[in-house]
Amino acid sequence: MSSLQQTTALLEQSLRTRRDLLGAAPTGVTRESLDRLKKTPPPQKSEISNLKSEISRTAQLAALREAVSTCRKCPHLADFRTQTVFGTGNPNADLMFVGEAPGADEDKRGEPFVGPAGELLTKIIVAMGLKREDVYIANVLKCRPDMPKGSTGNRPPAPQEMENCLPYLREQIAIVQPHILVALGKVAMAGLTGAEESMSAMRGRWFEFAGIPLLPTYHPSYLLRNGTNAEKRKVWEDMMLVMEKLGLPISAKQRGYFQEK
Ligand code: SF4
Repeated sequence: MSSLQQTTALLEQSLRTRRDLLGAAPTGVTRESLDRLKKTPPPQKSEISNLKSEISRTAQLAALREAVSTCRKCPHLADFRTQTVFGTGNPNADLMFVGEAPGADEDKRGEPFVGPAGELLTKIIVAMGLKREDVYIANVLKCRPDMPKGSTGNRPPAPQEMENCLPYLREQIAIVQPHILVALGKVAMAGLTGAEESMSAMRGRWFEFAGIPLLPTYHPSYLLRNGTNAEKRKVWEDMMLVMEKLGLPISAKQRGYFQEK
């Protein structure tokens, strides 16, 4: 029996147990807890099917993460990395953010978008009325691009490295099935689509990847370097396009963020 079948069997067993509890009072169960349980509405079919879908996606992502963790398609990166940086977030997310590659912080922690750029991305997500755990976050490249010995900092991934790694991202997207993809930065956009235009020419326009609407916008690290209200407003306008497409409410206050007085 596969791990998914085992988990599904456990879920079904737990639902059976719940039904049994509602019918009889086994030893050790208090009258109060039974009364509380009886007042709890039974799980809806849609809830069960959502739970099954989440379990299935989590199991598929775990299997893919395992495969990625030992990948050596780019031997120089495999030798250099502390660990692979697979992706994080809600396996049922409607919105997926895609960056270019892990940097030093991500390589150390094993999670994408940590450090100052990651904190800014989290702020953007919260400003949209969401939580970081609501979305899925991944990079095109799962290993930190190598750097000459003794040097600090990060380098952008090479096109060949992104080509080697893209099938993993494709698979992540196929499992999570987000409704919208956001490419963070020109390099991520080039890795996804091969587009070579500047970000100022691409942002604010919808593209497509694997049949899913894709919106490019500036990488948060760009905003850390050019944090004027005018640049923040551009990213925010892009995020409002995303919110509109997802059917998220946008308040008057949100519409006014970073607008010049
Ligand atoms: S970057 Fe991707 S393809 Fe290259 S070694 Fe790492 S996981 Fe494998």
